[in-house]
Amino acid sequence: MTSVGIVAVSHSAPLAKAALALAGEMVREGTGPRVLAAAGTADGGTGTDAAVIADAIAEADSGDGVVVLTDLGSAIMSAELALEFIDPELAARVRVVPAPFVEGLLAAVVRAAGGAALDEVAREASGALRPKIEQLGGDAAAATASAPAAGDVAGATGPSTGGAGPAPSADAVASATVRNVAGLHARPAAVIAGAVASFDAEVTLAREDSPQRAPVSAASPIGIATLAAAPGVSVLIAATGTQATEAVEHVRALIEEGFGEELVGEASATPTSDAAAPAPRTTDPTPTGPIGVSAGRVVGPAVVLRRTVREPSADERVPDDARDGAVSLVREASIRVTEQYRERASAVEGQRRTVIEATADMAGDATLVGGVEALIRGEGLTPTRAVWQTAAELVEQYRAAGGLIAERATDLIDVRNRLIAALRGDEPPGVPARREPFILVADDLAPADTVTLDPAVCLALVTEQGGPTSHTAIIARELGLPAVVGYADARSIRDGDLLLVDGDSGEVVVRPDQAAQATATGVITLPPFEGPGQTRNGHRVLLGANVGAPRDVARAVERGAEGVGLFRTEFCFLDRETEPSLDEQVAAYREVFDGFPGQRVVVRTLDAGSDKPLPFLTNDDEPNPALGVRGLRTARRHPEVLDRQLAAIARAAEGSRAEVWVMAPMVATAEEARDFVARARAAGLTTVGVMIETPAAGLTAVEVMREVDFVSLGTNDLAQYTMAADRQAGDLADLANPWQPALLRIIGLIGEASRETGGTPVGVCGEAAADPELACVLVGLGVTSLSMAARAITRVGGRLADVDLDACRRAADAALAAADPTEAKAAARAALG
Ligand code: PEP
Ligand code: MG
Repeated sequence: MTSVGIVAVSHSAPLAKAALALAGEMVREGTGPRVLAAAGTADGGTGTDAAVIADAIAEADSGDGVVVLTDLGSAIMSAELALEFIDPELAARVRVVPAPFVEGLLAAVVRAAGGAALDEVAREASGALRPKIEQLGGDAAAATASAPAAGDVAGATGPSTGGAGPAPSADAVASATVRNVAGLHARPAAVIAGAVASFDAEVTLAREDSPQRAPVSAASPIGIATLAAAPGVSVLIAATGTQATEAVEHVRALIEEGFGEELVGEASATPTSDAAAPAPRTTDPTPTGPIGVSAGRVVGPAVVLRRTVREPSADERVPDDARDGAVSLVREASIRVTEQYRERASAVEGQRRTVIEATADMAGDATLVGGVEALIRGEGLTPTRAVWQTAAELVEQYRAAGGLIAERATDLIDVRNRLIAALRGDEPPGVPARREPFILVADDLAPADTVTLDPAVCLALVTEQGGPTSHTAIIARELGLPAVVGYADARSIRDGDLLLVDGDSGEVVVRPDQAAQATATGVITLPPFEGPGQTRNGHRVLLGANVGAPRDVARAVERGAEGVGLFRTEFCFLDRETEPSLDEQVAAYREVFDGFPGQRVVVRTLDAGSDKPLPFLTNDDEPNPALGVRGLRTARRHPEVLDRQLAAIARAAEGSRAEVWVMAPMVATAEEARDFVARARAAGLTTVGVMIETPAAGLTAVEVMREVDFVSLGTNDLAQYTMAADRQAGDLADLANPWQPALLRIIGLIGEASRETGGTPVGVCGEAAADPELACVLVGLGVTSLSMAARAITRVGGRLADVDLDACRRAADAALAAADPTEAKAAARAALG
């Protein structure tokens, strides 16, 4: 009897195991075919691995061939790559079928158990949706007829063709109006693509206002971005498959809810016609002049990032019989480049990881890879040329879309360059390795460029492209590197040119004279701080570092921090849709604690909300998030999340040698402080405090201090709320200035409260602590510890060591009496001498 083997390829080992068990129940024990799972990566992770699949195929074959079923689109790619690894004779009797994973597996197992031949088993699996579609009243014949041929990757996951009207075979259709101000840019596109992957459905999206445009696959972030769907655009969602209705509803809800991003006003969110639709968002235009996006003023030699990829020849052609091989090379390159990105992503945390992961998805995106394959098969272009041309078309569409989508064109070009380098066997393009300090100059930077940037050697970034929301800006701020974007003359800069870069004003001076060079203030080549932090006359002031994630630990230790004055725990989980488990939290916290044996680490509980939304904790439709449910206030709705975090901190503290203190952000009343202390103590934490970030807490500091062991001043927020000036608004920066006498007077009251309550420790962990002169004033006002970006510690420590406590007090008095920030600073300076 014929005995066809079956291989189930899945990203998830538990999924494959369960599907195999279910299929096993369909046949009498001992009569089933040989069925193997090829699930997960070789190291046990989620994903698929061509080598694992190749082994499974070889094992499943008994000479009559093997049917391979796959769960998600990229599994097809791995399955096809596996065919390259196995003996060509065996490969010839393997069928990778476009079947639904579970139904197809069951159908294949039953048919194979009955002794059916290879192609019969393959056909049975491919038509496995038919009964379900018929039962639900759908057109099974049309659905099956439109199913892609086995092995046709582009057909299986790429954009469908036809106008924007619902496909006749669609099982479910709905419309949704784009409501988020930035439209369907890269992040929402990735969210949709990620969401549809979990449904047994093929989902497409189309613009209702452009019936002539073909729908795009909702599994393809690039395809979605090319829709250039701005707010107000109505999108038609169509799906086929057993979960078509659920998938359509899910995507509709995602689009209508705006992906947790800023929404256009309710009134403008519902237009159904173009006439009523709001104009596309124009808040992220290409800058018209240089913009400083990350503070600091430095001098250094330029290193120009050159994109070294030569344009591939348009004249060469691949002969017909070599085109399959050429397609395989592209698929291999796509998998390799995706892996390169993922490797880079795993080396970093936070937003950098998110953006690199999104770029990794681009490298394996069905629209890109499918387009390349079509050019190779249809026109015989070489793999490199096909990549070049496909990317060029997509880049043009991205740029035409404008706004945030246009800013992602740089990522697409990086993917193109890496694919071409991989196909040529060249080193991936990127930032050159340097040991000496330099300023990196580029047309624009992709996230992958910046991963290897070492802030100890890279002094600043200057780019020709990019806006305030570009990755260059995001990453520069995260790394604390001064940066100027939109500098049109970047191309005229040569390697080795001396540059003065001011990330506040956007000024770039090429070959500055001595006098200009002397104005540089953002020095990062200072030696590490050698401590202890104290004034000239020995008044101790602990100088700690602010850390946002475990990766900051090494930098803080290296710069000589005397512990951590602010561990922003929410930075560990900014990209999380769901609450991190207790174990994950313990692991993240312990990594930080372990960096500081015998030293103090002040952990702040999640400060979610406002500019740091955490999807699992915060409300994204608050009208005024800075004044809404953020920081400790999230515990009003989710006290269990706070309690679990406190338990995790306590558990992590138990196994470490750090002296762990814990504090809550955004406290306004003594009652909130009391409640927090009770919860923290119940979790087993001994030293418990709160942040003073609201004028309310500052003005009632005595009462607050009676409840706690210490306080820490978040001067960024305290300035924002005292001055009623959004800390993110560049044009209100003068009001949010920490030298504002109003802010200093509140800090003065807190210093007095400390004395009145018998010396309650008062830290400052806002940006104010990093200003050497202001740090002295803060000490004069009664502050007992300062915490700041690690790179600022040497300067602050040096300035403090230069002055006596009395001078600090005189400087504080002078600043308090001043009428404005300029006068306050000048008066303090004079007093400090
Ligand atoms: C602050 O507000 O000063 C502070 C340290 O907290 P964050 O900047 O994280 O809001
Ligand atoms: Mg704050």
